[in-house]
Amino acid sequence: MIPLIDLDRQFQMIKDEALKAMARVYNSGQYILGKEGLAFEEEVKQYLNSPFAIGVGNGTDALVLALDALEIGEGDEVITTPFTFFATAEAISRVGATPIFVDIETDTYNLDPEKTVKALTDKTKAIMPVHLFGYPANMDAIMKIAKDNQLYVIEDACQAFGSTYKGKKAGTIGDIGCFSFFPTKNLGTMGDGGLVVTKHAHVNERIRMLRHHGSTKKYFHKEIGYNSRLDELQAALLRISLGKIDELNQNRQTIADFYKKHLASLKGLSAPKTKANIEHIYHLYCIEVDERDRLSQGLTKAGIANGVYYPLPLHLQEVYQSLGFKSGSFPVAEEKSKRLLAIPMHPYVTKEEQAKIVETISTLMGEING
Ligand SMILES: *Cc1c(COP(=O)(O)O)cnc(C)c1O
Repeated sequence: MIPLIDLDRQFQMIKDEALKAMARVYNSGQYILGKEGLAFEEEVKQYLNSPFAIGVGNGTDALVLALDALEIGEGDEVITTPFTFFATAEAISRVGATPIFVDIETDTYNLDPEKTVKALTDKTKAIMPVHLFGYPANMDAIMKIAKDNQLYVIEDACQAFGSTYKGKKAGTIGDIGCFSFFPTKNLGTMGDGGLVVTKHAHVNERIRMLRHHGSTKKYFHKEIGYNSRLDELQAALLRISLGKIDELNQNRQTIADFYKKHLASLKGLSAPKTKANIEHIYHLYCIEVDERDRLSQGLTKAGIANGVYYPLPLHLQEVYQSLGFKSGSFPVAEEKSKRLLAIPMHPYVTKEEQAKIVETISTLMGEING
């Protein structure tokens, strides 16, 4: 089977360095909030060109901490997309606020700014765009809406480490950007990890305190916080992968170019679309297919892993029944959930695998199109 992602191959590539880094942490006697975490925060700040960066326990906590730091909670509304991983909306609900879903753009699958304007109320406090699959949302339009209406922008950049929007790194454009280092993310580690970046000094201070039980001085607590730090082992591993992230993202882009060249002209299928000055890092490579489920079955039979992202938009999830949406509420998100299919994408898909993947898809589409 050609896998969708290949963590084993990815971690084998850094094995010697990783084992050395693990030994360094092991021997340091400091496992939480130590040198590695601080060094990683410095290095990631440089890489993203962000004034502040705070390592946290995971991407979901990054979002929760961001909302909490801005004092968003009970009675507040946060606009986001229904076409994302559940954690985006979960974080909004977790702090007691209400996720206000707005449909997506048909070509980028990201939050639609025009529909966002129509969803504003006097309870709206923030907009939370997601850079889905590694492709940045329309930040110019979103930042303008936020400015005109005095709203915060919290970017869910959990799938987009290193992608750029008009020269700026995704996650550094709004007030706060949130990242996940879950093993399968394009910058992943061997466990859970997350990051918050911000341009505001007060947000930096507040999140540093909140992630550590609302404390800045040991055993003295200013508020009810969380236990959510990036541990030293993960930070040490992430420093290695951060040093290679441009190369890893570049590999993904080269594979994406090959896929596009061979797939884009097939009838009944389209490849991901990109716009000038907005860079995709292909956390996932999702093609859009008229007969998605038939292609999926054929690929599986041929030994090529594939996956549906996401089969059920968030407004139709059982947990959000109380919000009162029904089938048809967000037609674009619902349509994409029936048409998108992820095919193998990670930095080390071999040339042979790439060739087999495009040949198999061409053959299967030929059969489907009759
Ligand atoms: C992965 C992901 C998250 C959550 O990150 P975790 O580290 O798994 O908590 C949030 N939002 C999006 C869009 C994600 O893909």
